[in-house]
Amino acid sequence: MATLQLKQVVKEFGDTRVIQGVDLDIEDREFVVFVGPSGCGKSTLLRMIAGLESVSSGDILINDQRMNDVGPAERGLAMVFQSYALYPHMTVEDNMGFSLRLAGVPKAERSAKVREAASILQLEPLLDRKPKALSGGQRQRVAIGRAIVRNPSIFLFDEPLSNLDASLRVQMRIELARLHDELDATMIYVTHDQIEAMTMADKIVVLQGGVIEQVGSPMTLYHHPRNRFVAGFIGSPK
Ligand code: ADP
Ligand code: MG
Repeated sequence: MATLQLKQVVKEFGDTRVIQGVDLDIEDREFVVFVGPSGCGKSTLLRMIAGLESVSSGDILINDQRMNDVGPAERGLAMVFQSYALYPHMTVEDNMGFSLRLAGVPKAERSAKVREAASILQLEPLLDRKPKALSGGQRQRVAIGRAIVRNPSIFLFDEPLSNLDASLRVQMRIELARLHDELDATMIYVTHDQIEAMTMADKIVVLQGGVIEQVGSPMTLYHHPRNRFVAGFIGSPK
């Protein structure tokens, strides 16, 4: 299980404060979507949760333990990026198993985990292929597969579907929702796309200028937006 708490988290790059003291509670197995316009701080917030970016001040807690000084590999989470850089010379199977190989997991165990993830993602027939022989959607599934094999309790997604065409995006949204059910994991999903937020989230976090404007269910935000920005962004009639 995994809960996550942010307490007065601040991020400064030089003199610029891009995250302005964010407080947030995420429950075990929640599907939380960070949404907001480009440059509002979504990726920075996610990268601090992942441990890829330091916190200027404030605390990040996973399962009530302070993570500020814990390295990314020790946080029990896995991140899927928009630019899913697969290793071009490796097969799908080797791409998916690579982090396990780095961690010294024996071949038989590695292979079993990769096959299990491949089965969840319907990638089994493609395990021997190289990335260049895959479609965009298949590549994105391999990138998700790389995260699944590590058995993380928290998945972090940074605009994972933005390189895909519209119909594939719809299909991948459905697959991610199914994955969330199947894996019983906590998921944090970053997007600038209101429709993705409204259709996928248990809880939406609306960001603007490094500040949380509102946190709530899609229905709460739609029917009770706290201000014009949220209303405009969510597309509510208010
Ligand atoms: P989003 O993901 O919502 O588009 P980002 O988190 O990438 O926003 O960026 C938030 C703000 O922080 C932007 O103004 C961006 O220019 C700035 N920023 C992000 N990363 C860095 C960095 N490494 N150095 C300086 N400024 C950065
Ligand atoms: Mg971003």
